[in-house]
Amino acid sequence: MRLLFLGPPGAGKGTQARRVADRLGVPHIASGDLLREHVATGTPLGVEAKRYMDRGDYVPDDLIIELVSQRLDEPDAASGFVLDGFPRTQAQARSLDGYLADHATPLDGVIRLVVPSDVIVERLSGRRLCPTCQRAYHIAYDPPDDDELCDDDGTRLITRPDDEADVVRRRLCVYEEATEGLLAYYEDAGLLVRVDGVGEVEEVAKRVDEALGAGA
Ligand code: ADP
Ligand code: AMP
Repeated sequence: MRLLFLGPPGAGKGTQARRVADRLGVPHIASGDLLREHVATGTPLGVEAKRYMDRGDYVPDDLIIELVSQRLDEPDAASGFVLDGFPRTQAQARSLDGYLADHATPLDGVIRLVVPSDVIVERLSGRRLCPTCQRAYHIAYDPPDDDELCDDDGTRLITRPDDEADVVRRRLCVYEEATEGLLAYYEDAGLLVRVDGVGEVEEVAKRVDEALGAGA
């Protein structure tokens, strides 16, 4: 299965994509996670990307396309993947199409998670992230078993700097300007499946599974 998740920041893409990938036994590839690993280790790419991420802007297409293409070339992605946060622009979508055509591996489906902005703001203000495995939690809706520690590896959770209210507003604008056009792109390709992202994590997961059964 080759799937991708589309939706605004905070829609629950990472939460749902991770579950689907685990269930299918394919890697969950999130462009934001790849970037944050570079930022955390202070590579030149990470230093460059951080300037954009801290403001809530997209990093340049060439940089992210190179990063995701390298990840897709790793052996574990040969049998499938769940992409999350990529593509976000027309140039990225065209580049992904080229990559998939070169490898004779078409996409099976695109899940569009639909969540209104008031819900998004509430989700992002309570998001906590494990800096080791990048799993997202929410202080009220999806808390870890032990207060501030990741259930999977015990790492102390952090708040993402770009989940600060001003940056969230900017990220939502950038999504509307640069990414919403991709919905029509994938709809025209007959791949888009719309899923209501409001409700408990389990409830949304059930809808995603149903959508995949029916639409991909
Ligand atoms: P995205 O990857 O789209 O930015 P995340 O998966 O990181 O979104 O989710 C954003 C925040 O909302 C996280 O704190 C996550 O725990 C929480 N969350 C995800 N899905 C739900 C849901 N269905 N209900 C409530 N909170 C959710
Ligand atoms: P995310 O973890 O998906 O919310 O991404 C965090 C930040 O990383 C975004 O606000 C962008 O600055 C950057 N980013 C992630 N994926 C992309 C992408 N496909 N194109 C451009 N910038 C990206």
